[in-house]
Amino acid sequence: MNWISNYVRPRINSIFSRREVPENLWSKCTECGTMLFHRELAENLNVCTSCGHHMGITPRDRFLALFDGGVFVEVDVPAPTADPLNFRDQKKYPDRMKAALRNTGEKEAMLVVEGEIGRTPIVAAAQDFSFMGGSMGMYVGNAIIAAATRAVELGRPLVLFSAAGGARMQEGILSLMQMPRTTVAVEMLKEAGLPYIVVLTHPTTGGVTASYAMLGDVHIAEPNALICFAGPRVIEQTIREKLPEGFQRAEYLLDHGMLDRVTPRGKMREELITITRMLMGLPPAIAGDLPAPDPAADETPDEAAPAEDAKE
Ligand SMILES: [Zn+2]
Repeated sequence: MNWISNYVRPRINSIFSRREVPENLWSKCTECGTMLFHRELAENLNVCTSCGHHMGITPRDRFLALFDGGVFVEVDVPAPTADPLNFRDQKKYPDRMKAALRNTGEKEAMLVVEGEIGRTPIVAAAQDFSFMGGSMGMYVGNAIIAAATRAVELGRPLVLFSAAGGARMQEGILSLMQMPRTTVAVEMLKEAGLPYIVVLTHPTTGGVTASYAMLGDVHIAEPNALICFAGPRVIEQTIREKLPEGFQRAEYLLDHGMLDRVTPRGKMREELITITRMLMGLPPAIAGDLPAPDPAADETPDEAAPAEDAKE
């Protein structure tokens, strides 16, 4: 009996439960169709290991990989009035919000945090495309203002990862008002002399590109990201012309002077460390996990100075 319950039964259970494994542990690349092991895909930051296609990544997963030791602190964002227009299309707006909350585990489409990258203190904000298409409503406006205010308070650069289908139609004109509001927030950073770096991810479209996503000091995009105000289909129908290959994609926009860099997700952390340190006037980051700098090293210049005076 013991042998059956201790050995045979678990063995049978494991054989049967194994059948469910492929569905849960493998996901398919949306570009090349390769089956990717979930852990391998997560370790590669949701970039296909076969073709390099950049799939969506949640703000939380991005920040875990971005910040030193995966450590960051959330910045509070004031909650706006819920459903101000009492809006309803096929579904009520509050019902859509509840569904998005259930699917993502996040309360809204933007996450604002503070932490260090390569020992460089920054404030960062990331838009969540899986939350109602990352749409820019009053909350996203509040989030960007909170991020800019915190960056000015701490004297840190702001790094923003954009991803949005545009403005949130359920909030009507109130969502469009976020364009001037976020522009003012960006202006606060400029007045304080702090760098504002935008990382444009797939897709960044609509009112978001017409405001905060295109007002950075440096614009970096992820490979093949669609970045536009009106999409290629709308433009094609309007001008009745076939659009060139790769139109409105990151590489095309880089060639046409709309972007500064196109950087793969795996190299983004290093790139952001270099750029933020350079713009903040800090020395280059120490590569690897070296011990804390020797305090004696700081004293050397002071000792050297009188020696030079002596020569004169
Ligand atoms: Zn692929």
